[in-house]
Amino acid sequence: MKTVIVALNSKYIHGSLAPWYLKYACGDDCGQVKVLEYNINDNIEWILTKIVAEKPDVAAFSCYIWNIEIIFKIISNIKKVLPNVKIVLGGPEVSYTPEEIMKSNSYIDFIICGEGEDSFKKLLSVLNVKLRGDLKYQEYPKHLRNIDYRVNSDYEENIEEANIRDIDGLCYREGGKIHYNGKYCIIKDLGALPSPYTNEMLSLMGSNKIIYYEASRGCPFSCSYCISSTFEGVRYFPMERVKSDLLKLINAGVKQVKFVDRTFNCNNRRAKEIIRYVIENSKKTNFHFEAAGDLFDDELIRLLLRAPEGIIQLEIGVQSINTQTHSEIRRKTDINKLFDNVRKLRSKDNIHIHLDLIAGLPFEDYSSFKQSFDAVYSLEPHYFQLGFLKLLKGSYIRTEEQVKKHQYEFREYPPYEVLCNKYISFSEIAELKGIEEVLERYYNSGRFENTLRFIINCFYSSPFEFYKELYLYNLEHGYLDKSISARDQYTVFVEFVEYLADKLSLKESVGESLKNVINDLLKFDFMLTNNTGKLPERINRVTVPGFKDWCRDFLKDESHVRQYLPDFVEMSPGQILNKVKFEIFDYDVAALSDKMRLSDKLQSSGSVSIIDDDKLDDNGKLDNYNKSDNIGKSYDSDKSYDNSKSYDSCRSADSDKLDTSNKPGADCNSDYSLNSDYNLNIESGTTADNLMLPEQRRVIILFDYSNQHKVTGRYRYEVLKLKNFL
Ligand code: SF4
Repeated sequence: MKTVIVALNSKYIHGSLAPWYLKYACGDDCGQVKVLEYNINDNIEWILTKIVAEKPDVAAFSCYIWNIEIIFKIISNIKKVLPNVKIVLGGPEVSYTPEEIMKSNSYIDFIICGEGEDSFKKLLSVLNVKLRGDLKYQEYPKHLRNIDYRVNSDYEENIEEANIRDIDGLCYREGGKIHYNGKYCIIKDLGALPSPYTNEMLSLMGSNKIIYYEASRGCPFSCSYCISSTFEGVRYFPMERVKSDLLKLINAGVKQVKFVDRTFNCNNRRAKEIIRYVIENSKKTNFHFEAAGDLFDDELIRLLLRAPEGIIQLEIGVQSINTQTHSEIRRKTDINKLFDNVRKLRSKDNIHIHLDLIAGLPFEDYSSFKQSFDAVYSLEPHYFQLGFLKLLKGSYIRTEEQVKKHQYEFREYPPYEVLCNKYISFSEIAELKGIEEVLERYYNSGRFENTLRFIINCFYSSPFEFYKELYLYNLEHGYLDKSISARDQYTVFVEFVEYLADKLSLKESVGESLKNVINDLLKFDFMLTNNTGKLPERINRVTVPGFKDWCRDFLKDESHVRQYLPDFVEMSPGQILNKVKFEIFDYDVAALSDKMRLSDKLQSSGSVSIIDDDKLDDNGKLDNYNKSDNIGKSYDSDKSYDNSKSYDSCRSADSDKLDTSNKPGADCNSDYSLNSDYNLNIESGTTADNLMLPEQRRVIILFDYSNQHKVTGRYRYEVLKLKNFL
């Protein structure tokens, strides 16, 4: 008997874990088992052809919200060309309503509910015996008659032992009826499962794919929207097994290992042991963990801050800062502690921080969501994920009582996203979707960091209001109807600033200065993340006669190379010029950027504070919201956590030709005063005739394109402030 386990991943870059666990759990009694991996962007006909070409007796599919609809299409067609193939489904998307699914999809033979390793193995053992016995009586379509099915003479004897009815969590058909024993499989002893990380798996995956890993199953928490909360307790894989698997992945040169543990740090002792192991052993493999932000203790934070740059990513769900929302979704989070911890973890750029918010939660109306957005934004995560509530099958939030209580309307098809509820309308959700899109394009791309900081600092009291304005601008100009290249997004931003200047009725001279500052900031951001040297349309370059010769002369001076580009001391100026670029700026954009710590501004202005019950009226509205009690205010940035300057903090150069006033360690930003009085809320219609902008001060910035930061993706740079040249 031959079985194929088919995984349809959401992206090419993703690998799948479940099929490999199932394959290696099967052992010798199950016949031949093969894993086939595709992704949902592959052509369906092609996937079908590949599956049929395997001539399987059993085709099993791992079902999730992102692939279930495609799987239904594929399996309906498989049965037409391989009428005797047995179709088995498993996975979270079919585990909670198996009878309903089998009723409406006659081509499904079996559904396994829950963790399938044990039950799948038992099912295949039964089918292995039964199919080999049955097949001698089968009549196959002509074109399939060349399939070589073995005939098992032990059939009659074995079938007595193998009883399909005894398999836990199995939904099956018998005598024209659907049977299900109502069980949901849980593997109690995870250590008994063979490791799926074999040479076969790793060579098929290739080192470029994201490899999923689990050191535990289950979650101790019970968030109402999450299916991990539907069964109790956490089970762990033995630590020695975890370490040996991780070492295998590191040695195989895997680019990223994504832990799928539901709350990686629910056990701090184990979390420390794994983090320590990863820090000690990882060469270039990056490890991604989903963690509860309030559960880190100081020792774990210190350990994380010692991790080499780019080895660790943390994904932390904030979801909302509204305490009433947290309590309604049964989420026990100490929001103050979470913010405190994230600030500590963010104090160095060595760990990639990913924060999540969810729109559409109970008691989170538009105004409350805006507060949550601003609070999370103030933490300046490397990635800010704005998600939308999904009413997943099997989750508590999808129960009739909850749906009724909060008046949820949601899509009946995957991914079952909320359309509206008692607190937020469909048009508000639609607007948040648009804001999510511009957040992806501008913030999460990491390509506009300094420009965004400047513009929000100067004009907006709320980052949310800025993104809303940017969204509306993009919407109105049709930029959301099509994909815009990364380069063209800079041009769109130039247009947006022109629109802003008009809207504020800025004096012509002020408007011009603003556009010039933005030009330099956009140029700076572009060159920090793009090494082509060709600037986007409408971003202007300062041209000075003789500049090319000056750059070459600068590099001929060995002391300069030794000081700024020590890795290149053996190279000629021509060779170095292939790896670096000099660019003239009218403003010292690096110093300007360093001045603008958005988190400080929002913290000190009280824009970021927890929303607790006291601030809500009887309807859960924020009418009397009083911005006080800043979140995580106990965090003292001067404490023992590493406060070393961030990667691209202000640097300066000195030599006899250079202005030496801004040596490293000096307050290199002292010339700029971005007075918080200029923080305008565009929505309020305030104008800014007297907008004070930084003074012009020409600088040359040297970009080193051989040196890219592993977390931010930005290239290293040096600011050269020259007295005599410019
Ligand atoms: S949302 Fe996270 S913390 Fe909550 S139950 Fe699910 S996995 Fe656990």
